[in-house]
Amino acid sequence: MFKSAVFDLKHAEKEQVKEFLNSFDTVLSDCDGVLWIDNNAIPGSADTMNYFRKIGKRVFFVTNNSTKIRSDFALKAQQLGFIADENEILSTSYLVAHYLKSIGFKKKVYLIGSNGIGDELNAVGIKHVGVGPDHVKPDFKSLKPTDLDSEVGAVVVGFDEHVSYPKFMKAASYLASEDCLFVATNTDERFPKSSSIVVPGSGTLVRAVETCSERKALVLGKPHEYIRKYLESCGLNPARTLMIGDRCNTDIEFGVRCGFQTLLVLTGVTSTRDLEKIRKEQIAPLPDVVLPKLGDLLEIVKS
Ligand SMILES: [Mg+2]
Repeated sequence: MFKSAVFDLKHAEKEQVKEFLNSFDTVLSDCDGVLWIDNNAIPGSADTMNYFRKIGKRVFFVTNNSTKIRSDFALKAQQLGFIADENEILSTSYLVAHYLKSIGFKKKVYLIGSNGIGDELNAVGIKHVGVGPDHVKPDFKSLKPTDLDSEVGAVVVGFDEHVSYPKFMKAASYLASEDCLFVATNTDERFPKSSSIVVPGSGTLVRAVETCSERKALVLGKPHEYIRKYLESCGLNPARTLMIGDRCNTDIEFGVRCGFQTLLVLTGVTSTRDLEKIRKEQIAPLPDVVLPKLGDLLEIVKS
């Protein structure tokens, strides 16, 4: 009943909501725009996530954000009222470290990114260089082969507020070697908008490095399927998994690609108007179910 069109759960009967709740065992939720916005919890989200846990669901927090380590994400979630353990946090900073460790990577990473990724790499014993400013010199093309680190065997690109031309030159120079791995956290175009200022996201940097290296990155974050493979190794059944998100082109696309059920909430990036546009123009996959906010689910159950 939930697969053929977008089902507005807000107007569902209590029995339909119960049937929906019985249709999955695992809940994956995006964070920003679903559970919280910046440092403010979205009303009702914590109670609903904690309720999922109470009725026996496994819960994971899935975020494309690469600027924090898992324990910091878990702490933030706990401070905002969510029951959360760091093992339930699937951030792209962690996925980068997990991926490189899983393939037995022993060399050094050239990192266009932040300490979030750097600290996760440290935790699995992988060395890295590149975090922090790398200023443009008067002669912007003045990079020499001796400026490159011969131990580097992978370029990782995530969010980096210190991104600069020398960083692009180094990344592309390392990637000129076919043996050098190319891994990216995510390809989000922008940060969620809170004013008229556009804040470019990691995708901006990934596309720049792809362009100058003439290579394609292995992208680990949503909507790519690496997370499903990771979770299948923890016993996840895709057909009985619900993905909750606020963006059709990352969260819902990810859920659809992985064979999960999908729930869109309208507290973040995708608005009611966007959803109508997506429905008409078919520019992104539609969710199975929609709710104005996650907390509405618990209100219906308890009504
Ligand atoms: Mg989001």
